[in-house]
Amino acid sequence: MYRVKEAFYTLQGEGAQAGRAAVFCRFSKCNLWNGREADRMAAVCNFCDTDFVGTDGQNGGRFETATGLADHIAALWPDAPGRPYVVCTGGEPLLQLDEALIEALHDRGFEVGVETNGTLPAPAGIDWLCVSPKANAPVVIRQCDELKLVYPQPLAPPEAFENIQARHFFLSPMASPSEPASGEDTVKQSNTRRATDYCLAHPRWRLTLQMHKLLGID
Ligand code: SF4
Repeated sequence: MYRVKEAFYTLQGEGAQAGRAAVFCRFSKCNLWNGREADRMAAVCNFCDTDFVGTDGQNGGRFETATGLADHIAALWPDAPGRPYVVCTGGEPLLQLDEALIEALHDRGFEVGVETNGTLPAPAGIDWLCVSPKANAPVVIRQCDELKLVYPQPLAPPEAFENIQARHFFLSPMASPSEPASGEDTVKQSNTRRATDYCLAHPRWRLTLQMHKLLGID
């Protein structure tokens, strides 16, 4: 049984695949927070800006089989030239993504991308693996296509992850879900400045912004 919060067709907004059309499949649940606001500050990860609880979002649902979910995802891809691409995200997608689903997606012509916190082993067959480490959550994946670190996290400095083999190293400025609305822009701007300064001083790292938020798309 696969539980999906929502699935939708959009443009990837971040990282090395930014601007690419993709079906986003947001799996329910995360191993670093239960998604309830009352438990946020006690969670291992407490800056999450995503609703991954339940299966009630756009095109969400429960899927008994890998082929059933792969058909559901394929139906969201347009009838147009271009390699189909799906981004499996969450929540934490590696709680549910398995080789059977990857194979079913490959059978339908999809390239399979994954955005994970890196704390769980990845199944074989993933075409693009993005690891986004969180403080106090040991990363077990040692090799990926891109490493995307939300910055700053005082207990997760970029230097701590440079021993992971990655083709790309990105910093993504942290928004602050716990700040009042009037303070959000200021916090984000300040974090963007700090991330910019870090990238200027450490050119191995590149800045990535959440283009989908700047554009106001999903
Ligand atoms: S690991 Fe990702 S999905 Fe889980 S709580 Fe943190 S930001 Fe949210």
